[in-house]
Amino acid sequence: MSNGTSELYFTFRPENAALKAKIEELSGENIDLCFQCGACSSSCPLTSEMDLLPSTVIRYAQLGMEEVLGSKTPWICITCFNCEIRCPRGIDIANVMEAIREMVLRTKYDKFTLDELTPEELRELPQIALISNQRKLTA
Ligand code: SF4
Ligand code: SF4
Repeated sequence: MSNGTSELYFTFRPENAALKAKIEELSGENIDLCFQCGACSSSCPLTSEMDLLPSTVIRYAQLGMEEVLGSKTPWICITCFNCEIRCPRGIDIANVMEAIREMVLRTKYDKFTLDELTPEELRELPQIALISNQRKLTA
C-alpha cells in the first residue's frame, strides 16, 4: 500500500536513526525488541488521556520519528510500571517515556530553577516535566 499511514507505520528512514539511537541511549532500552503486541497499551490506566498509545510511542521511537517528541503521552505517563510488568519482551516503557521527556526538555529549556518560573508557568507546566527536569539536574 502506498498511503501515508502505512508508510508511517512500516518505513524506517536512515535519516531517523540518530533520534532512535538517542532514545535508546537515554532510556537504556532496546526498543527493537518490541513486536507491537499491544500488552502495554491494554494495561495502561491512562490511555484515554493520551494522544498516542504507549505501544505507538514505542513504534514511533523504533522508527526514529520526530513526531514522538510532540506527543503528550510521555507527559501523561505516571510511571506506574503496569506496562513494564506485562511486556513480554521486557521493555521498560516508562524509561522510554522518561527519555522522550528529557529530550524535549533539553531542546526547549537550557536550564532553569523553580525560582525563575512565573506563577503562570508553574500552573501550566505538567508536574512530571518539573520532576523530570529536577531529576536531570540532580542525577
Ligand atoms: S508506566 Fe506510563 S505508559 Fe506504562 S502503564 Fe503506567 S502510565 Fe501507562
Ligand atoms: S508490551 Fe512490549 S512488546 Fe508489546 S507492544 Fe508494548 S513494548 Fe512492544
